[in-house]
Amino acid sequence: VPTPATLDAFWMPFTANRRFKAHPRLLARAQGMHYWTDDGRQILDGIAGLWCVNAGHARPEITEAVSRQLATLDYAPTFQMGHPQAFELANRLVELVPGDLDHVFFTNSGSESVDTALKIAIAYHRSRGEAARTRLIGREKGYHGVGFGGISVGGIVNNRKFFGSLLPGVDHLSHTLDIEHNAYSRGQPEWGVHLADELERLVALHDASTIAAVIVEPIAGSAGVILPPKGYLQRLRSICDRHGILLIFDEVITGFGRLGTPFGAHYFDVVPDMITSAKGLTNGAVPMGAVFVRKSIYDAFMHAPEDAIELFHGYTYSAHPAACAAALATLEIYRREGLLTRAADLSRIWEDAVHSLRGLPHVIDVRNLGLVAGIELQPRSSAPGTRAYDVFVAAFEKGVLIRTTGDIIALSPPLIIEPVQIDQLVTTLADILRATP
Ligand code: PMP
Repeated sequence: VPTPATLDAFWMPFTANRRFKAHPRLLARAQGMHYWTDDGRQILDGIAGLWCVNAGHARPEITEAVSRQLATLDYAPTFQMGHPQAFELANRLVELVPGDLDHVFFTNSGSESVDTALKIAIAYHRSRGEAARTRLIGREKGYHGVGFGGISVGGIVNNRKFFGSLLPGVDHLSHTLDIEHNAYSRGQPEWGVHLADELERLVALHDASTIAAVIVEPIAGSAGVILPPKGYLQRLRSICDRHGILLIFDEVITGFGRLGTPFGAHYFDVVPDMITSAKGLTNGAVPMGAVFVRKSIYDAFMHAPEDAIELFHGYTYSAHPAACAAALATLEIYRREGLLTRAADLSRIWEDAVHSLRGLPHVIDVRNLGLVAGIELQPRSSAPGTRAYDVFVAAFEKGVLIRTTGDIIALSPPLIIEPVQIDQLVTTLADILRATP
């Protein structure tokens, strides 16, 4: 059993570290919808690990595929050579993504996918003689990982305030979506599409010829499940088209079935120029990410004169054989069990369940889409964030894992969840909310 002293070697974000040391919670085993702690307690997983274990934990198909792969070909260098599974995986994946995003760049995480996509955007414009297009635009409340690019375009101010401006020429689209509580009721808010016009203001301010790309999450996950107004993403698409700006959807959370469609782009019926992904790609079993790019972007590199190609990309572990094996096995599970549309099948039950929390003590907003939900609590005026954290601790004590961000509870269970487990999740939260001061 670790003591507070032995917990020091492994870094966790600072506040989490202090809280963790006070109440160490160690997960020792996982199966299906559940974790087991090191002292043998069963925990229902309400957040799919960290929004990633979409097909449920410890799927034998994945374990066996990875172990077979490691015994056959443990590693293949990325440069000048490849291995068959990488090509097979790329071909399977491009069948899943919308539009003509039929080329894949493999990475090892969501953060790397984001940094890769931003780099591709700048290189794409350069390869077409538009070297001045380097400005990047994110969104307030956006989360895009912990790389230099992701932190810069990320819109959660606390995450980047210590670093200042890491990348030059970054702006954030403002919005007020999360200020108007109870605006979400069920599904996407009907109002607020005009917030996309903020992009026109930035275009006028900077000149379109300096702007490389806009990156947004179809729904903002880490900031607390914030849904776009109806038409917002379409409006961004048309403004980007008008000004030759690339539109990137960061689908690290919304990819692989979270909204009841393979990608969020399908759900919102908008085809971006690039999609960044990770998490559900390998069901959380092995680290892997992927960036999907439009044919026109790929062609710009392939057909540019040799000395004009600016893109340098590839990690030691790009398309790692074990990750490819895990991803191929995961895709097969998604296909066989219909998991990429299961969130849509369950959406009515899910929606009714999470909205039953409305009106309970402290709950000021409930929002949902697919198999994801945000339950926003009234912060304690003296100590914001502590109320949701107390709910998290109490839920874990009662055998349910949730995630909190500030005073928002995020739910995003594995897509294999059964209605009776949805009921357990929500009933546990309701009991805790009633008892929380
Ligand atoms: N983008 C989004 C939308 C995410 O939700 C996350 C992780 N929560 C990331 C990027 C970063 O992914 P990773 O932690 O795998 O680097």
